[in-house]
Amino acid sequence: MPKYHIWTIGCQMNKAESERLGSHLEQLGYEAAASANEAELVVLNSCVVRQSAEDRVVNKLANLKALKKSRPDMTLAVTGCLVNADTTKLEERFPHVDYFFKPGEYPQWLESPKELPLPEKPNVAVYVPIIQGCDNFCSYCIVPYRRGREKSRPLAEIVGEVRELVERGAKEVTLLGQNVDSYGHDLPGKPELADLLYELNELEGLLRIRFLTNHPKDMSLKLVGAVASLDKVCEQLTLPVQSGSNAILKAMGRGYSAEHYRKLVAEIRARIPDIALSTDILLGFPSETEAQFQETADLLSELNFDTVHIAAYSPRPGTFAARKLEDNVPPAEKKRRLEYLERLQEGIASTINARLKGKTVEVLAEGEKGGRWWGRTRGDKLVFFNDSRDCRGKLIKLRVEKTSPWALQGIVEG
Ligand code: SAH
Ligand code: SF4
Repeated sequence: MPKYHIWTIGCQMNKAESERLGSHLEQLGYEAAASANEAELVVLNSCVVRQSAEDRVVNKLANLKALKKSRPDMTLAVTGCLVNADTTKLEERFPHVDYFFKPGEYPQWLESPKELPLPEKPNVAVYVPIIQGCDNFCSYCIVPYRRGREKSRPLAEIVGEVRELVERGAKEVTLLGQNVDSYGHDLPGKPELADLLYELNELEGLLRIRFLTNHPKDMSLKLVGAVASLDKVCEQLTLPVQSGSNAILKAMGRGYSAEHYRKLVAEIRARIPDIALSTDILLGFPSETEAQFQETADLLSELNFDTVHIAAYSPRPGTFAARKLEDNVPPAEKKRRLEYLERLQEGIASTINARLKGKTVEVLAEGEKGGRWWGRTRGDKLVFFNDSRDCRGKLIKLRVEKTSPWALQGIVEG
């Protein structure tokens, strides 16, 4: 049996696509290999959302050059956001790569499936893309250029797919899109994400529903109402703010102000008091002053997010910011701002998590690591615990014994 190996970097969308590509290859008669060294077919699913991700992809491609030289019959293919419409430059730069293909546009030899098959044995928690692409064109972001315009999947198709995954053993689904609030605007009857949630909540055997990413300019109170009222929809939202400065938000083309964001969070918390909130910060945007950066730090201190993903700006080819704005915050200053926010958030997360000590939480056990079970709470906190039973896919009640900014340790309750 020929073997394949897929190396994935980047967002959950890439992870979901790699999983499906793997299932498709298995249907074609391939077997998964633990490393590229043992594989006849190696696929890199790439990310170029920032320079550091692109550097990792380029390094990996450089490493694979030697492997390809020693085993010229090996097939090397690259997909994901590195691949743009015109692959001529990539072909020149990486002549050892056999195929470049855009996400979802599979080459002939892969037998061009219209839809990639679902995994035979899915994980307990699975990702399901509901809308591809993005129409927002934030000035710094390469995603719309590489992933194209928004395209929603029909509601019935998604419900059918989740039902199928649940029949095969999945218990939790995370619905994916760059902007899930745009879901459905391009479909007949214009269904919304809230409508999809109401339907999924009815699926027998499905225990939990999550979704990401929301956009602060588009998130509706109807959606907040659905999260508040549907028992399977977890009390957790990913709502990237990017900056606390109105001038920077404007230059980013985000379409909302810091005041709008604060008001939205207040409305969400009024409806769902125990909501866990996650956000993304992009610092060091062109011309970001110290005072503007402090506005971001103040917003983080004030709103107390459970999780914050912090990135330093890097220009991305083709974007408005890369073409028109000078990348003028020095690298050392970006690093300082990044470390400052990371320390700040570590303290906030540490306090939030410490409040859970002694409390009972419900965890969906996803797997075992080093002899211990791990799973997540409804608020998406990672929890480790000991249990001699087979807990996989089960909801377990735990008392929180120890906390850190990143994870919790629990004991099974009576
Ligand atoms: N759709 C989501 C995020 C998509 S990109 C949203 O609207 O927020 C994922 C994250 O990568 C972003 O939240 C941003 O913080 C980061 N990112 C995007 N472009 C970047 C760039 N040019 N430099 C550094 N980080 C970037
Ligand atoms: Fe990029 Fe903005 Fe679209 Fe998010 S909403 S993917 S940041 S363009």
